Amino acid sequence: MANEFDLIEQYFSRPVPEHFLGVGDDCALLPVDAGRQLAVSTDLLLEGRHFFSDVDPASLGHKALAVNLSDLAAMGAEPLACLLSISLPGIDHAWLKAFSDSFHALAAASSCPLVGGDTTRSVSGIVLSVTVLGQVDPALALRRAAARPGDDIWITGRLGAADVALRLLQGRLPSDPALLGATRAALEWPQPPLVFAQRLPGLAHAALDISDGLLQDLRHILKASRCGAELDYGALPVHPALAPLDEGLRREAVLSGGDVYQLCFTADPRMRERIVELAAQTGTELARVGRIVSGQGLVLRDAGGQPIDALGGGYDHFG
Ligand code: ADP
Ligand code: MG
Repeated sequence: MANEFDLIEQYFSRPVPEHFLGVGDDCALLPVDAGRQLAVSTDLLLEGRHFFSDVDPASLGHKALAVNLSDLAAMGAEPLACLLSISLPGIDHAWLKAFSDSFHALAAASSCPLVGGDTTRSVSGIVLSVTVLGQVDPALALRRAAARPGDDIWITGRLGAADVALRLLQGRLPSDPALLGATRAALEWPQPPLVFAQRLPGLAHAALDISDGLLQDLRHILKASRCGAELDYGALPVHPALAPLDEGLRREAVLSGGDVYQLCFTADPRMRERIVELAAQTGTELARVGRIVSGQGLVLRDAGGQPIDALGGGYDHFG
């Protein structure tokens, strides 16, 4: 692409912390603490599949990094650095400035500097790939296989708003500007609980970030940990914007709606007080929503303790 190096210099090259080597050489160099391991995760975002062609580039820059930071959070890892590979059909400076400013703003706020990547011209549409690197004590990392019967199940943040915004933008719900106004930020500006998550190792057992829907994602923990779960429907943290919706739609958005980028984690009940205290210290919304049980299966109970038969799936690209 003409101007490839100018683009990199102008939009993607930023100062990095001492002892880091960032953009401009064949590889980046990063310091890793003794006794910790690298936590690595990558996500691909395609125009037309993961974001709309006319999406606000500032929100896209934020979200491309936020969804990756969410994976570090779900492991209990501390961000170290990130890589950005981007394929563009052409050069739009206003778009690139808004995108990169927002990407770097979140990178700076989360101590996850951009240290490298790749830039090419695409055949069609924008393609983005972000890789994050973090570090974590391997003995305390929040693995999906680490849940134990008797554990509490916790969720950070609020459920359902991103799904409702997506349905509105896709025309799957009748136009409702007030409802879109109240839910859109959840879809376009996800805020994973990064500081809270870094302090969870040692307090929690298993964790994951909710990206494809609570029920589907929780099943990954249950499968990996070979156990079952009971969820109390009334304890689930429903986003307040969903209050006016009819119950069927609200339930689907809460249980199966994706793009949440908040944590679902399990922990020994003896840790309750410390977990609640950590949430208060870090300004994190937190709800205790159920328990891990021995055996298998996921049971959802209403306020009276009766099982609810509403266990749909979540998002599956090949489903
Ligand atoms: P190479 O030919 O070794 O792949 P490039 O010419 O592609 O190197 O990139 C030059 C430098 O710019 C490298 O340090 C690379 O990591 C960095 N870089 C390229 N594109 C991006 C990007 N989108 N964001 C951050 N760094 C980038
Ligand atoms: Mg290259």
